Amino acid sequence: MRDSNLLEMVQAHIAKCGCDLGLDDNVLEILCSSARELAVSLPVRMDNGKLKVFQGFRVQYSDALGPTKGGVRFHPDQNLESVRALAALMAWKCALHDLPLGGAKGGVICNPKELSKGELERLSRAYIRGIRDIIGPHKDIPAPDVSTNSQVMTWMMDEYSKIMGENVFGSVTGKPLFLGGSAGREEATALGGWFVVREAAKEIGLELNEAKIAVQGYGNVGYHSAKLAPGFGCKIIAVSDSKGGIISEVGLDPEAVRKHKSKNGSVVGFPGTKTISNEDLLELDVDILIPAALEGAITDNNAGRIKAKVVAEFANGPTTPEADDIFGKEGRHVLPDILCNAGGVIVSYFEMVQNFDMWQWDESDVRKLLDKRMVKAYGTVMSASREYKVTMRQAAYIVAFKRLVETMKARGWV
Ligand code: NAD
Repeated sequence: MRDSNLLEMVQAHIAKCGCDLGLDDNVLEILCSSARELAVSLPVRMDNGKLKVFQGFRVQYSDALGPTKGGVRFHPDQNLESVRALAALMAWKCALHDLPLGGAKGGVICNPKELSKGELERLSRAYIRGIRDIIGPHKDIPAPDVSTNSQVMTWMMDEYSKIMGENVFGSVTGKPLFLGGSAGREEATALGGWFVVREAAKEIGLELNEAKIAVQGYGNVGYHSAKLAPGFGCKIIAVSDSKGGIISEVGLDPEAVRKHKSKNGSVVGFPGTKTISNEDLLELDVDILIPAALEGAITDNNAGRIKAKVVAEFANGPTTPEADDIFGKEGRHVLPDILCNAGGVIVSYFEMVQNFDMWQWDESDVRKLLDKRMVKAYGTVMSASREYKVTMRQAAYIVAFKRLVETMKARGWV
């Protein structure tokens, strides 16, 4: 999918829901533009002694509800438009889940697979130096996303702390536990998604015991969704990464697949499995399909052939608007990204609260609080879907926009 399509998709949703809610033009104009965008050039000394300049971005889409929050993505296909679209999704997500946070996103154009550990560290630090003026625990708090992890977050926090001359653990989230991270953050996006899937299964009468699952993408979100599946009674039969997919009707051992991937660079070739393409994986006869890779995986080319009863969007923007229309006509139960994958930002919010208090909560408390929030959000979106007679995605946007508009009106912005 072209990156600009993600932005077009976000804009199309704004227009559609604006219409459903009868929003006036002033409100729509604010919702259609990002509040602040910063593009930075990042000179990094490479291992061969030469200097390479990378391009980075930080977009703060809306701070109506509070300091902005969103991940940083290191990827070769990044650009300002895709970061803007992802920042908008963060703003809707935080509003939908009633968090006192606005939405932001960051990105650096790079191929992390080609960087040494030292180069990755210097790039992470250079990015923070580039955006230092617009971030901070009360302004904008970066977090992990595609190809960034707790180590990258630690370098970023350390660099920000050096600039400020004091430890500012709350400057990023997704840190390791021993540096002010929250218990349960690594698995939070996937676990939050599973809580929503559990609610959806109850709603549509789908038996989760032995339900067959296919997961696209085997990074942070994909791996944890596979690992958590047995806890919800489900069986992972297929997974994939950027190099291809694997299937085993008897079920996969997620931990063994992860070990195979870290040793061999891909899930492909895992003993006892058949190799399939990424396209095949999406069209398998499974109960639940979990896209957990990148945007634009499900298009009008393949949506009609998808057999899963539930499509749970653990990734951001995996379904194009055209594919969404097909799902809408079929009445397929789609759990939209801003509803389904908010576990990461919710536990990041918990991490912020713990950092402000200089305290750490038990994992069981984190899980309980996350569960409660995901159940509430699913129920709210389901009710809006019935009330407005719209799909779950439109309903999620409606709930988010209502909250944002109410806040902007109260603040005298519109
Ligand atoms: P990651 O970098 O850890 O993993 C991405 C995975 O996708 C990798 O396994 C990669 O090989 C795979 N992939 C890339 N292209 C693919 C393709 N064409 N087909 C199949 N697999 C492919 O990233 P992540 O943090 O797991 O994020 C995955 C998705 O979840 C993204 O859309 C991200 O924005 C979203 N998300 C992440 C978080 C989080 O907390 N990490 C939170 C909310 C949403």
